[in-house]
Amino acid sequence: MASSSDSSVTQYAGPLPQPTPETQPFFDGLRERRLMVQRCGACGQAYYYPRPICPHCNSNDVHWFEASGKGSVYSFVISHRSRPGFEAPYVIAVVELDEGPRMMTNLVGVEPDPEVLRCDMPVEIVYEDVTSDMTLPRFKPVVQA
Ligand code: ZN
Repeated sequence: MASSSDSSVTQYAGPLPQPTPETQPFFDGLRERRLMVQRCGACGQAYYYPRPICPHCNSNDVHWFEASGKGSVYSFVISHRSRPGFEAPYVIAVVELDEGPRMMTNLVGVEPDPEVLRCDMPVEIVYEDVTSDMTLPRFKPVVQA
């Protein structure tokens, strides 16, 4: 491929989310190493992704809180196709947070091997600074003491 770039510096090449007014507190939290999600005051359910109306009952009585960052693997796939920012094989997972919401994310710190990955595996968040002003959430297995 003839692409001219002076990339002697390794740069994150993956997709960068575009924060919106609704999601800005989530991204601000990640930069501060806090996982901010929303909970509905009307029905009490926590949810993700951020939005101003509760997806469960349509209430707008929603507020932010700091989640524990702990959860478990709900489902996963091992991708064998590299894409910008992700060298195959890598793990795409849906993590169910202890507070209830499910997040699409990537698993890190674990072999992308179906022999070692399993659903319900306990995981916790790791914060990856992908650029100077963008931090994204990944999850890694909780090491059993
Ligand atoms: Zn609700």
